[in-house]
Amino acid sequence: MAVGKEILTWYEGAWHEGNAPIIGAADHAAWLGSTVFDGARQFDGARPDLDLHSARIIRSAEAMGMIPPVDAATVQGLMEEGCARFGADRALYLRPMMWSRDSAPGIIDVEPENTGFSICIEALDMPAAGGFSLTVSPFCRPRPDMAVTEAKAGALYANNARIMADARKRGYSNALSLDVEGFVAETASTNVFMLRDGVVFTPVPNGMFLNGITRQRVVSLLRADGAEVVEASLTLEDFDAADEIFVTGNIAKVMPVARYKDREMGTPRMGLRARELYWDYALSGGETVAALRSMAGGV
Ligand code: PMP
Repeated sequence: MAVGKEILTWYEGAWHEGNAPIIGAADHAAWLGSTVFDGARQFDGARPDLDLHSARIIRSAEAMGMIPPVDAATVQGLMEEGCARFGADRALYLRPMMWSRDSAPGIIDVEPENTGFSICIEALDMPAAGGFSLTVSPFCRPRPDMAVTEAKAGALYANNARIMADARKRGYSNALSLDVEGFVAETASTNVFMLRDGVVFTPVPNGMFLNGITRQRVVSLLRADGAEVVEASLTLEDFDAADEIFVTGNIAKVMPVARYKDREMGTPRMGLRARELYWDYALSGGETVAALRSMAGGV
């Protein structure tokens, strides 16, 4: 399924207009789900943390037992090349993907050397802040000994898809899901933060959710801005008592939660500050606000 209306696909050494076919009917990925992907963004001429997204797809492929056919620098260079074809002013979703083409003799396991690679770039506007609602999902996140949670693998998104579908059916944008120990993990497509008495909290990485690139960036930007950010095991009771909740992820970067369960949340002061810090970071070409301040001789 395409998320955008205009699509450009890199496959087999060339750019193709549109939603180009890339996987054969007998490929391992087609019937055993060995796809990995990453998601990055271009907006307002910026491509924040493109190097980190390029490096992560390599790690994801390796975690699935595949040998990536290209390195991170090549992935990044191709994404930049594809962006240039659209123009720097376009809001784009950049998605490199790798998958296994063939099975090893055991049939179920992948043949490591036979890895497909493609990049799909789709025109996709940045969502405006506002109107985002969150409920609690009945579906949990697996432990690393239950699924390949260290990879950003398409196979994990079967669970995320039902988390999202259930939330939407109940009139919400997304849902908090718990890990198997009962702590809040993330949503179906983002990491999550909450504010309580002026302190920002976010679940501590424990292998049961994606330690997102945006999450890590927002933690360091908020700390550089003087906020106290605590990574901890958080319960639903913690979220019930939160003064604010916001989510982070590649698609919208930072999104304040306007409604949590049946509660209308107040003005998202910290969520909007985090969003502003992220945009400052992205538009400055990746310099942190603190680094820029010290370069300018300020505090
Ligand atoms: N969790 C899940 C399940 C996601 O799909 C995403 C989006 N990639 C995130 C968290 C956020 O990760 P990132 O900030 O690296 O995009």
